Amino acid sequence: MSDLKIVRYPHPALRAKVTPLTTIDKQVRLHAEKMLELMYEAHGLGLAANQVALPYQLIVVNPTGDPEQKEFERVLINPEIIEKKGSIEGEEGCLSFPELYQKVRRARTCKVRYFNLEGLEMEAEAHELASRLFQHEVDHLHGVLFIDKMGFLARRSSRAALEELERQYRKGQERGENPPEMAL
Ligand code: ZN
Repeated sequence: MSDLKIVRYPHPALRAKVTPLTTIDKQVRLHAEKMLELMYEAHGLGLAANQVALPYQLIVVNPTGDPEQKEFERVLINPEIIEKKGSIEGEEGCLSFPELYQKVRRARTCKVRYFNLEGLEMEAEAHELASRLFQHEVDHLHGVLFIDKMGFLARRSSRAALEELERQYRKGQERGENPPEMAL
């Protein structure tokens, strides 16, 4: 599975609502490992399975973004946000939207329930940046993107960047690198 790569907007995988995992096998563990590798390579803090065009509910995060700080690394299977508190606006980016950073409003604190790679049910409470990260990544699994969460001003100032990504995507399609619009 070394051929996994991060797909960019407007790749259709980013709009897919992916399904829960029912078993955690060797392949899932390999995918998680590869996703962490891609995340660190791209200097990201999190990556969701649909960002590498995998159709199931798995995210990887490390709020420090530092591969040396493994203790902050998490693999979350079938994650669900079960509680949200407060509200805070902060700058956000996404590995599927290179160079686009905009303010997005999110819950300041959230609680997430998930399974770890050993199949154990876990709960984690996250604040500030980690809370933003969990909400952003869990949204991905439901086909929801940070551009959907932007206020109208942020959305307006993103327009040129989005058009440029769409242009690059179409060029990739012409070179046969991206699937045609309806294929997934
Ligand atoms: Zn993202």
